[in-house]
This record gives sequence, C-alpha cells and structure tokens, in this order.
Amino acid sequence: MKNDFDVVIIGAGPAGSLAAARLRQDNLSVLVLEKMEFPRFVIGESLLPQSMDYLEKADLLKAVEAQKFQVKTGVAFLHDNQVCDFLFKDRFSDGWDYTYQVKRADFDNALIKEVEKKGANVIFNATVSNVVTGKEQQSVTYSVLDAEDKTVTCGFVIDASGYGRVLPRMFNLEKPATSKARGAIFTHVKDEKRSSKASENIFVYDFNDNSAWIWCIPFSDGTCSVGVVGDAELVKEFGENDSAKFRGMISDFPGLNDRFKDAEFIFEPRQILNYAVSVEKMYGEGFVLCGNSTEFLDPVFSSGVTLAISSGYKAAELIIKQLKGAEVDWENDYEKVIKYGVNVFRSYVEAWYSGDLHTIFFVEEGNFEFKKQICSVLAGYVWDEKNPFAKKHKSVLTTLAKVIRITNEAPTRKD
Ligand SMILES: Cc1cc2nc3c(=O)[nH]c(=O)nc-3n(C[C@H](O)[C@H](O)[C@H](O)COP(=O)(O)OP(=O)(O)OC[C@H]3O[C@@H](n4cnc5c(N)ncnc54)[C@H](O)[C@@H]3O)c2cc1C
Repeated sequence: MKNDFDVVIIGAGPAGSLAAARLRQDNLSVLVLEKMEFPRFVIGESLLPQSMDYLEKADLLKAVEAQKFQVKTGVAFLHDNQVCDFLFKDRFSDGWDYTYQVKRADFDNALIKEVEKKGANVIFNATVSNVVTGKEQQSVTYSVLDAEDKTVTCGFVIDASGYGRVLPRMFNLEKPATSKARGAIFTHVKDEKRSSKASENIFVYDFNDNSAWIWCIPFSDGTCSVGVVGDAELVKEFGENDSAKFRGMISDFPGLNDRFKDAEFIFEPRQILNYAVSVEKMYGEGFVLCGNSTEFLDPVFSSGVTLAISSGYKAAELIIKQLKGAEVDWENDYEKVIKYGVNVFRSYVEAWYSGDLHTIFFVEEGNFEFKKQICSVLAGYVWDEKNPFAKKHKSVLTTLAKVIRITNEAPTRKD
C-alpha cells in the first residue's frame, strides 16, 4: 500500500524534532504538522545533561551549540538560606557534565529548522483535527489556518503534541495524574543586577513548608526566567497578567529581592494550572505518544524536555525497525522503558513535596556521601541500573531521610 509519507509527526517541539531527525537518519519520509508559527513561546527552559546524548546521536547538537545558550553545569536548591549545590561533573553515571538553559522559542526553532535541512517536510500553522489508525495505513487530517481540511496517509503516526495531547484526547487515553493539582506563574525579566559572581545555573528555592518553590533560570542574553510553583490556589492568588502582585511575591525572597526589585518584565506573568497529566497507554496500532503527550509530572527537576527528547528518539528507532518489517515489542521496549524513567522522577518529586529530599539535601554536613548518585538522577541519568538511587528509587529516598532524621534526633555521647 502506497502512503504519502512513512511517518507523520504531530507537533514540532523537542519530542517531534528528535523523532524526525532520527527517522531522517534512516531516510524515511517524514511530515511534521505544527499548529503554531515558529518561533513560539513555551515554558520548560532548563535542560538536563542526559538530553545531550540524544541531541548528539540525532546530529542536532551542533545546531543547538550554534545558538550560544547559557551553559548549565549544575543546579542549586535553597532552603531558609541554606544551599545544596549539585555540580554535574560530580555525578556517578557516565555522561555529560553540562547542558543548557534555553529560551524555548529559540531552542525549538533551531531544532526544527535543522530537521527541515535534513529533509523532513514541516508545515507550520497546521492543526491536526483527526487521525484514523489501522494495521498498514494511517490517515491524518489537518488544516492550515482557515484553509480546507487536507488528509494525508502514512505508515505510522507520532503524537508529539505536548500540552495539545491530540491522540490521548481523540482515542480516550487520558488518565488523571495521581499528584496534587499544582500550578505555576512565571515571566522573563531583564536581569541587569545579576552579579558577576552569581552562579549562572538554575536555582530552586522552596517555601511554605515544601509546598511551593520559586525558580530562577538565567539566560545567556542577560535575561532570566522567574517562576513560582505551588498549590493551584496559591498560584491563582498571584493573578495572571498582574506584574505588581508577582513582583511583590518575588521581592519577598532573600536571594532575589535586590536582583529583581525593579527589573523590567519582558512579558506579563503567565499562569499554567493543573499541568500534571497521564495516559492509559503510550502506543497502539500505527501510533505512539512521545514527550508531554504521554505524562507530565512536575517541573521541579527540569525533567520534561529531557524525557521528550529521549522518548522521541526511542520511538523513532522502534518505528524504523517496524517499518523495515521487524516485530516490535512496544510494551517492553517502549512503554515500560519510558514509564521507568518517569517513575524514577516521580519518586524524587514525591520526596521533594513530602520533605524527604529536604532532609537529605540539607543534612548538617552538607556533603552527604550519596550526593554523586543523586546528582546522576538530577542530570537525567535515570536508566543507569548501576545507580542505587535510580534503581531503588521507590524506597531509597524515604529510607535515607528516615535514617538521617533518627541520627539527628539521637542523643550524642556528650548528652
Ligand atoms: C511551569 C512549568 C515549568 C517547566 N519547566 C521545565 C524545565 O525547566 N525544564 C524542562 O525540561 N521541562 C520543563 N517543563 C516541561 C516542558 O514544558 C515540557 O515537558 C516540554 O515542553 C515537552 O516537550 P514536547 O515536545 O513533548 O511538547 P511541546 O514542547 O509542548 O511541543 C508540542 C507542540 O505540538 C503542537 N501542537 C499541539 N496541538 C497540535 C495539533 N492539534 N496539531 C499540530 N500541532 C499541535 C504545539 O503547538 C507545540 O508546538 C515545565 C513545565 C511547566 C508546566
């Protein structure tokens, strides 16, 4: 059966671009349908080193490097004026020591332009409205701006539509997230008071008894992303498009007040509420979900883009295999693998909001012996079986936090 394309990809975010780049390496014909005109804003600006492995494998790293984004060598967590710094060079797993902090408009645009150069067909302002899947042929219907619907056929469909969640909605695959409903409010500011000695790595400062936190992500052009994450009710209080309220909020922070007190906001604060989502299934006959259209947990460990990148790449590898006639075990070779990575982060997110990670990060000595293993997970190396802090993620953090609490409460010999 002759199809118009081997693969149609819905969405030109990082998941879509990585999939397209990998498919082009095997000369498959690819059509990427993207609802927006690029460059476009999207939140999610701090990458993890693990994403560099896949950017390199997909031959997209040079295009990213050319953008001269802010180099990110680690992450700092702050709590009541205490600092727990992680530097990726000190991690346990093999891999990259650094990555980037990126304005997504520029990052996503650089990726998709490179993908176009590699021979993928990309149509912007193209909204996918219907998908019919079958054994050998899939059909995808889309319209460009107000033009009439058009339908193309292909051998496989990748849903990389992120928050659009095209196929989960169309095929009734959506599942509510198990985590609490949280939200975020954020803006970009002119960071003119950034001191030359200030770390240029992202920092995360928690407040309200671990239930809320603020991020600061410096960019290489002298601007900075600032945002607050917390319970939906708290975020609503700051009022979208209300610079005065948001400025008041960030001014209360010990590490931030001078830096952003009178800083110019580049756009009015924007809100996203209830972003955590999940799905019943990540694949089906003739289609697969990648990136945020599968599951999104929480932004605290900057895992979203990295998981989008790795899932886009892994899905493309399996599609190549299948379209060449081999059997693919989507359950074991895709869904279980992606879920495993998500679940490692889930344990860390849960330990963050329960306070277990605070107990571990801010243990008195500051330099706890497990820091290297935890650092690997924070660098995105969640699939490293040799790392007990990835492999035993379900129990290791709660157990360690318990031990630290008991040790700290135990009377010393002097007592
Ligand atoms: C508050 C907050 C902060 C975050 N911070 C970070 C962070 O610091 N680091 C990090 O890694 N992640 C972060 N994330 C997560 C990050 O935003 C996502 O994980 C990431 O953007 C997912 O990439 P993607 O390629 O799956 O989807 P997206 O980047 O969302 O791309 C999907 C594309 O699909 C297109 N599309 C949608 N519907 C259709 C349709 N019907 N037809 C055609 N095209 C369509 C969209 O226009 C879009 O361009 C954060 C998330 C939130 C909510």
